[in-house]
Amino acid sequence: MQDPDDLALDGNAVAGSLAEVFAVDVTSVRVTCNHCGATNPLAEAKAYVRGPGSVLRCAGCTSVVGRFAKARDAVWLDLRGSAAWQFRATP
Ligand SMILES: [Zn+2]
Repeated sequence: MQDPDDLALDGNAVAGSLAEVFAVDVTSVRVTCNHCGATNPLAEAKAYVRGPGSVLRCAGCTSVVGRFAKARDAVWLDLRGSAAWQFRATP
């Protein structure tokens, strides 16, 4: 059986897709995990992008911190696994 970690990319793998939703550079986003409370850069999350949607898992505890999928005319976000997404403010 293949190790799921072999399929994971870093969080930068979803930056392009999230850029369609958030009008900021999402590579600077910090995500707080709802399970373990750790706050880490999005780029350090484990990104699984080979399914019909993408899944982001916490770098610390591997709990799901976000899911998203793109349909024909919509992007679906499920951020229930995260307590917060921190964006850098524009001065
Ligand atoms: Zn966690």
